[in-house]
Amino acid sequence: MPRRLVILGSTGSIGTQALEVISASNGELVPVALSAASDWEGLIRQAIAYGVRRIALADADAAARASEAWTDGEVVSGPDWPIELIAGSDCEIVLNAIVGSAGLLATVATLGEGIHLALANKESLVVGGELVRQLAEATGATIIPVDSEHSALHQLLAAERPGSVEQLVLTASGGPFRGRRRAELVDVTVAQALAHPTWSMGGKITIDSATLMNKGLEVIEAHHLFGTAYDQIEVIVHPQSIVHALVRLCDGASLAHLGYPDMRVPISYALHHPDRVDVPVGALDLAALGALTFEPPDTDTFACLRLAREAGRTGGTAPCTLNAANEVAVHAFLQDRLGFLGIAAVIEETLDRLPAGDLHSFESLIEADAEARAVAAELVARRAAAA
Ligand code: NAD
Ligand code: MG
Repeated sequence: MPRRLVILGSTGSIGTQALEVISASNGELVPVALSAASDWEGLIRQAIAYGVRRIALADADAAARASEAWTDGEVVSGPDWPIELIAGSDCEIVLNAIVGSAGLLATVATLGEGIHLALANKESLVVGGELVRQLAEATGATIIPVDSEHSALHQLLAAERPGSVEQLVLTASGGPFRGRRRAELVDVTVAQALAHPTWSMGGKITIDSATLMNKGLEVIEAHHLFGTAYDQIEVIVHPQSIVHALVRLCDGASLAHLGYPDMRVPISYALHHPDRVDVPVGALDLAALGALTFEPPDTDTFACLRLAREAGRTGGTAPCTLNAANEVAVHAFLQDRLGFLGIAAVIEETLDRLPAGDLHSFESLIEADAEARAVAAELVARRAAAA
C-alpha cells in the first residue's frame, strides 16, 4: 500500500531531499500536500512535478498569488493553516521540515490528529517539551526523528532494554570555528559562519552549528525523544561527521552508528520506517577515511551549548525562551546587525531577564516565545546602537 505523506517546508534543504527520497521510492511514498513560507512559485513547481493537489503558504500575500496562478488544486493559508492542511489531507505521515518554533503548531496538529510525525523541526520539541510528548502519548502517534544523531540513536536503542542503556552520546562536527578561542571569533563574517565543513543545510541550522547551539538544541531534543536524563546525554566533537551517535551500555559495550553525512539516509529511515530501502550513498570506506578523531567540546568559547543544557535542566518555559532568543539573534547575525559572539550574549541576557515559568499549555508557550523575542530584539538593537 502506498504511504501518503504531507511534507511541510518542502522547499527547504530537508524538504527537497525528502522529495528526492520520495522520487526514488517507486510509488511507495506519495506526497499529498506540500507547504512553504513564501516561495509560492517554487512550491507550485513542486506540486506540478509531484502531482500534488494541496499546498499551503504561511505568508498571506504569497498564498493569494499562488491561488491566482495555480487553479489545479487548493491553496491553504491563514494562521491555522497547519491544522487545515494536515487534518484535511488523509495522510499516514507528516514530515515537519519547517525551520524554527514556527513548526510547533504543525507538530501539535499532527500529533493531535494521531498521525505519525517524521520530525526534522527539532525546535518544536525543544520548545514544546513535555507537552508534545504527552500529546503523542495521548493519541498514540509516534515521533520518528529525522535529525541524523537522533535517527542514529533511534536505531541504536531499538534493540536495547531501557535499563541496559547508561548514556547517550551525540557527536558534533564542531562547525567551521572549531579550535578557535573567543578572541578569534569577534570579527568572523556571515560567509565564514555559513561555510560548514561537513553538512550542507539551511542558513539557520548552519549558524546554529557554528555556535554549537545546534548541539544544545539536540541535547534537549534527545532528552524528550528518549526520556533520558540530562546527565546521561553527552556531547563529543567529531570533525569528520562519520559517527553520528553512540550508546553506552551497562556491560561496558558501546554501540555506534556510522555513515557518510547525507540527510537522505535519516529522511529515508523516517519515511519508510520500519522498512529499510536502498539509498544511493557510497559504501562506507573506513580505510579511505583513515582516521576518525574525537575531542571534548569547548563550552567556554561556544557558550550556547552550556546555555542550552542549563535551560533544559531548568525546564518549564526556559527552553522556549532560549530558542526564541536564539532565533532572533541568529536572524540579526545573518543580517549583519549582530556580531557572532553577540548571539550567545543576547541569549544569556534574555534568559537572565525572563525567569522560567511553568509549562501548562501551548498558549503559555506562545506567550513566552513572544516575550522572549521582544526582549532579545531590544538587546540586539541596544548592542547595534552601542557598536
Ligand atoms: P531551510 O531554511 O532550508 O527550509 C525551511 C523550510 O521551512 C522552507 O520550506 C521554508 O519555506 C519553510 N518555512 C520557513 N519559515 C516558515 C514559517 N514561518 N512557516 C512555515 N514554513 C516556514 O531549513 P532546513 O535546513 O531544511 O531545516 C528544517 C528543519 O530541519 C530545521 O528545524 C532544522 O534544524 C532541521 N534539520 C535540518 C537539517 C539539514 O540538513 N538541513 C539536519 C537536521 C535537522
Ligand atoms: Mg543533527
